[in-house]
Amino acid sequence: MRIKQVNRYFPALIVLIALLAFTVFAFYQASLSAEERRERLFENRLERIKSSVSLRMVDYVQILKGCRGLFYGSDSITARDWKIYVDNLNIESVYPGIQGIAYAQFISKQDTQRFADHLRKNFYADFQIKSPFKNDFLTPITYIEPFSGRNLRAVGFDMYSDDTRREAMDRAMNTGMAALTKKVILVQETETNPQPGFLLYMPVYRNPESVESIEDRKRNIKGFVYFPFRAKEILHDVSERFKDVHIKIYDGEHIEQENLLFDSDHAAADSDETLTQNLLNIAGTPWLLSVGVDDEFGSDIEKSQPIIILTFGIILSVLFFMMIANIIKRNNQIREELLMTKELDNKKDEFIGIASHELKTPLTSIKAYMQLLERSDLSEQHRKLVSKANSNITKLNNLIGDLLDVSKIQSGHLVLNVAPFELKKMILESVENVQHMYSSHELLITTPIPDLILNADILRLEQAMTNLLVNAIKYSPGAPAVQISINQLEDTVRINVIDSGIGIAPENREKVFDRFYRAKELSPVFSGLGMGLFISSEIVKRHNGEIGVESEAGKGSTFYIILPL
Ligand code: ADP
Repeated sequence: MRIKQVNRYFPALIVLIALLAFTVFAFYQASLSAEERRERLFENRLERIKSSVSLRMVDYVQILKGCRGLFYGSDSITARDWKIYVDNLNIESVYPGIQGIAYAQFISKQDTQRFADHLRKNFYADFQIKSPFKNDFLTPITYIEPFSGRNLRAVGFDMYSDDTRREAMDRAMNTGMAALTKKVILVQETETNPQPGFLLYMPVYRNPESVESIEDRKRNIKGFVYFPFRAKEILHDVSERFKDVHIKIYDGEHIEQENLLFDSDHAAADSDETLTQNLLNIAGTPWLLSVGVDDEFGSDIEKSQPIIILTFGIILSVLFFMMIANIIKRNNQIREELLMTKELDNKKDEFIGIASHELKTPLTSIKAYMQLLERSDLSEQHRKLVSKANSNITKLNNLIGDLLDVSKIQSGHLVLNVAPFELKKMILESVENVQHMYSSHELLITTPIPDLILNADILRLEQAMTNLLVNAIKYSPGAPAVQISINQLEDTVRINVIDSGIGIAPENREKVFDRFYRAKELSPVFSGLGMGLFISSEIVKRHNGEIGVESEAGKGSTFYIILPL
């Protein structure tokens, strides 16, 4: 039973499986593309962060090139010149991370005293060189702007004596390009909470035209323009623009806590994030950029799209399945109902066949007895009674005959006895018989009957013809006559039975040839069972002929039979 059910709903199951498979496929594709979009978005972020940091450095280098230009324009740049120039740059408001812009002269140990005296005289009375004097050369901070606050502490500080600073200065001197130090604690920092800082150096040469080789550059070095900046303040506004990622920047090429320059979100735990590391070259110094994203990265719509597809896909698949299963169920019901109706019909036909057979036998013997009785010596009154009984027996006999014919047609057992006969004879006999039975109407043959020999079952054709004539009389009460006309066509002959009776409504014209059909609006005056035209049409069709009706309701009908010659 269960297997039968599954078989029955198999198409619906196939559709369900196909739709679900498609849904899963769409979900997978959408997930892939969401993941791809997420990746693309991330790559885009990464590029923008990298270029933001690099561009910031390009700007800084550019500022320093301007400063160097000032020295190349004149041999004697005073502290005042420096102040005017730097004030003009208005750096504090544009790049808040920069602590100041300074110039440090490159001097030999022997020149220290002379240099200090010169500055004390021309610039700053308290000028002191702060150096352990461990190298042959010094780079004391000479001019610094803004010349105030923490920067005052820096004046005179010999940067060359500090290894980290010296390494960057040497790099700048030897390459002729800007060089960034590794992480340092700026001199400007106080004891409390000192922050990682950097110095970006740009070499200034005495003869800028002749600094082709390293040797030239070393020989010609005059000093350095540079600025100190705090990593955090510079990187802060970069990270402000990309808040959906976690940015960390390390000094050097490796992730080491002590080299951490910047962390955009101190609270975030790296373990929940996907980290990407990129090496940046910042003015010759490697920085490691680490960018982390958590599961929330990417817009909500992108992430929810696959889930929406999956949910709707499943709902639609199930709905489709239910719809198709319902259609199948309904179809099966209809089929079963049809089968049952057919079975009932068969049973009915079977019953009609058997019943009419059973009726026919006793009726035949009654008829025989009545005929015997009719021939015996009877009083006039009794003869009339017997005659009435006889005509009713005939009617009953005809009715049973019709019932038997219907059941034969239904079971495909209507046998035709085909033989040649004269058409004229068949028509005249039927007309005479009917005229004999019904005196109410005159049956008029209005055209000559052609002399034709037909090869057909004469009795069956007579039966059909009689039926049309009887109907014409029956359904034209009060009319004086029924006309019969015959037209011979090329290879057919058409027999028309024309009455001027009640006619047939257009919508019923096809149905009159159906089994047991009777027009609904017929008054009970017209008795009948709706078998005559069904039998007639079957007889004509079996002769490869055509039966039909032309009619106008209330005006009369013309039933016709067309037979092939
Ligand atoms: P019956 O006459 O026993 O009802 P038929 O099969 O001979 O059965 O006819 C079927 C139906 O066709 C009739 O009930 C009637 O409604 C319609 N019909 C047949 N002949 C005519 C006619 N000449 N004029 C009008 N209606 C007719």
